[in-house]
Amino acid sequence: MSPAAPPSMPVHFATTEALDRSALGAAPVRLPRPSRLAEPLPGSDELGAKAARALETLGLHTTGDLLEHLPRARGEARTVATLTPGETATVVVAVRSIASKPVRRRGMKPRVEATVADATGSIKVSFFNQPWLTHRYPAGTRLLLTVRTDPRGRVSVTAHAPTDQEVAGEGQVAQYPASEGIDSTRILALVGERRERLADTLEPLPARLRAAERLPDRPAALTALHLPGAERDPLDGRRRLAFDELLLVQLALLRRRARRERAAPAPRLDGQRELTARWLADGLPFGLTGDQERALEQIDADLAREHPMQRLLMGEVGSGKTVVALFALLRAVEQGWQGALMAPTETLAEQHFATIQALMPGEAVPAALLTGSTTASRRTDLLGKLASGELALVVGTHALIEPDVRFARLAVAVVDEQHRFGVRQRAALDAKGPPATQADAGSERLAPHVLHMTATPIPRTLALVEHGDLDHTVLRELPGGRQPIQTFVASGERERERAYERIREELRAGRQAFVVCPLVEESEVLQAKAARAEFERLRTSELKDFRVVLMHGQLRPREKQEAMARFAAGGADVLVATSVIEVGIDVPNATVMLVEDADRYGISQLHQLRGRIGRGEHASLCLLFGPKESARLRALAAHGDGFELARIDLGLRREGELIGVRQHGEARFRVAVLPDDADLLERAHVHATALLRDDPELSQPEHVLLADALAAVYGPEAAAAIPA
Ligand code: ADP
Ligand code: MG
Repeated sequence: MSPAAPPSMPVHFATTEALDRSALGAAPVRLPRPSRLAEPLPGSDELGAKAARALETLGLHTTGDLLEHLPRARGEARTVATLTPGETATVVVAVRSIASKPVRRRGMKPRVEATVADATGSIKVSFFNQPWLTHRYPAGTRLLLTVRTDPRGRVSVTAHAPTDQEVAGEGQVAQYPASEGIDSTRILALVGERRERLADTLEPLPARLRAAERLPDRPAALTALHLPGAERDPLDGRRRLAFDELLLVQLALLRRRARRERAAPAPRLDGQRELTARWLADGLPFGLTGDQERALEQIDADLAREHPMQRLLMGEVGSGKTVVALFALLRAVEQGWQGALMAPTETLAEQHFATIQALMPGEAVPAALLTGSTTASRRTDLLGKLASGELALVVGTHALIEPDVRFARLAVAVVDEQHRFGVRQRAALDAKGPPATQADAGSERLAPHVLHMTATPIPRTLALVEHGDLDHTVLRELPGGRQPIQTFVASGERERERAYERIREELRAGRQAFVVCPLVEESEVLQAKAARAEFERLRTSELKDFRVVLMHGQLRPREKQEAMARFAAGGADVLVATSVIEVGIDVPNATVMLVEDADRYGISQLHQLRGRIGRGEHASLCLLFGPKESARLRALAAHGDGFELARIDLGLRREGELIGVRQHGEARFRVAVLPDDADLLERAHVHATALLRDDPELSQPEHVLLADALAAVYGPEAAAAIPA
């Protein structure tokens, strides 16, 4: 060991070797002063009205805003001597001379010619249509120029801005998202002038975490992105900033989860299985799949705890989620509590209610349906029975969480397609929990155990950011006896003819078919109109020998119900429909689906639609009309597994983002990209879990800046308790 330093003496980095006085004196002193980030950016007097307005448009008001305006790409930085024909590059030069050229012919663009130079040489450049530049850029002005050198070596300026930078290195320069009125080069110059301020940006990560992950500090990361250089790898900077985003999202979700867990206890449902044991052994008309068994075990364990369950059950259409949900509800019922299932639409609620009844023949569990269509007198009756506890099980829509609905002893709530319910609705559900008894001192109410369900399974990476506040259970296995669905992409008249012939074959064999009309996102009315036209066409031409019914969103609820009921009962052969059939239809005899203009639908929508067939004993056929080259349609033809499709979908959407079609507001992160950053996300998840375990409210001094960052990104919501 080298001469050990006294414990309090500063040492050389990562050694025990003491720093002597002179070394200490020479060390750069850096005291970040975040207040300087609040300095406003130059206004119209300095930048011109257009550019100043453009900065506003981009949301850039202060130095801090500017330094958080991250580059989207990198371009080449060159010296005058290394400008390369055929290349666009950025140089830092000084103006030697500048003059406007007289216009010789009408229609010629007014031109300003300048000789500019750096230490390696000089070039002549022209500016078009900006005669005022002779005054703005007098000899001696330093300029940041983005220039294009044509194959013959002539240089034209594509963007320019005054700069205080002395020299351009060779290497790379940042390229920024720009806006009408200000280009990337101008933004680069503004950043360059403020590069000293990068050191004033805050470091929210605790040092220990940063060291463990070998991440550069935040100022260094921002510097690497804005001013890439030999010693600063922009990729390291990117990784650091991506980690921050992922850590914050995990912290926000896990903290919400922890808060709900602590907010109120839940009834402990750890009693013996009686009703459920009998039901599973004798009542259920089939054996459970392995995945269903596992789901039941997990839920049983959750319900036995005094913390409310917060679990998400993911499984694609037909994977048998309802059985699992019913088990959770019956666990409550058999221990003297109540269970409720909430679905986003009336159709779905009705479907669930019917399924549940079919799944427990012979069990005398008092159950009822409560939706917006329930008559006033029936509703009054039901509310009375819910409040008295006489009604053990209820299925319904939002109608279940209206203020006047009171449960005597609600212990388990199942929420179907939870993303279609808002936070407030979930909170309302939580508030339906039973009043606490003396034993639960400390909180007024008990919270119900909540099981969320979704038929849109997503890969773990996405689930971590979308449902990181929930435990996950996945049903992958489809119940046995299912026939696979063959899917084909069809285009052109000949294939269309063949498709109708195949449909007629199935219909003659006694099967039924869906015809799904194109999605018209802008207008449900137009979509309904198109469906009606297709309905009229089909029943007088290709399918004139069969019974065809129509269903679309513009029909009255009663008409919809009638069409559905008729089709389900076999009273119609073909259902022509809009995407309203996406959820909630179970007709095992339907074996064909034809989707018109299928490429207007997204992958998961098509997969959901397709889930309407292949539900019975017969093999099924899905015909997607659309371009053969569509990557989405090809994916559907190749894969039946929803998880695989979700993965492909994610990849395709990300490609879209990479080529710059990321819609405003659609991007969840500014830097992180999923699934590419999946490893980083897993690590962020681990760190977030550990941080909150040691410091649930992030109130320790070394976590305060992290808590601030969390509030800055996720707002006061990150501080509020999570409902349901
Ligand atoms: P999901 O809600 O996940 O789309 P459902 O719960 O509606 O699926 O189940 C689809 C169909 O499969 C229902 O008719 C249901 O009775 C049946 N089913 C569920 N589990 C099994 C199983 N283990 N074996 C056979 N059929 C099952
Ligand atoms: Mg279902």
